Amino acid sequence: MGYYTYIIAAVVVMIWSFAVQANLKSKVSKGSKIRASSGITANEVVQQMLRDHEIYGITIEHKPGQMTDCYSPKEGKIYLSDTTYGQDTISAIAIAAHECGHAIQDKENMPLYEFRQLLAPAASIASKAGPWIVIIGVLLSAYASRSNSDIGYAISTIGIVVYFVAFLFYLVMLPVERNASSRAYKDMKTSGWVSDDQLSLAHKVLRAAGDTYAVALASSAVTLLRLIAIRGGKRR
Ligand SMILES: [Zn+2]
Repeated sequence: MGYYTYIIAAVVVMIWSFAVQANLKSKVSKGSKIRASSGITANEVVQQMLRDHEIYGITIEHKPGQMTDCYSPKEGKIYLSDTTYGQDTISAIAIAAHECGHAIQDKENMPLYEFRQLLAPAASIASKAGPWIVIIGVLLSAYASRSNSDIGYAISTIGIVVYFVAFLFYLVMLPVERNASSRAYKDMKTSGWVSDDQLSLAHKVLRAAGDTYAVALASSAVTLLRLIAIRGGKRR
């Protein structure tokens, strides 16, 4: 990928990212103003959904902040953020149900979910270390003697392989997140927690949140291609 192609791709992803963030903010805020027709709270949704799927021993905890909602398999907890914990809005219920979706994936030993969990710790290191390793390799190639240039190329290649772990993580994360949302939607549809109009808004909230993972994947793909371009060909 040439330099200008990279710049264009990076700008496109950036603009897309802003659009996705703005859409998410707008859908979540819209869903935060409407209370569920049944009056059920996010915490009750979690309890009911887990019970329906015969998942026991998971506790709900408040995690202060925005969008801090998450399922922690290690701790056996579902964390709910300020705008979710104890709230009865459409956004709160949709997000809580989504986190339960992850707990169900975990219980069913869904292969993609397990793969994501396996990759998660390595991916966070790989996304930072990969680019630096590539740069070290490129510098070695550029300033070293001819024989060392091969070593530089090899180091850059290692950096690309390391970064690929991060890319793989985002690649696996997208379908896992979509799947958690579709599980949430399915249960919201059959439970009667919300009215039909509210269900369609909940769907929009879940979709908007899912789009952020598509952006993360695209951004990671652009970085991966850029790293391959920076490494360049082998010097002859
Ligand atoms: Zn999720």
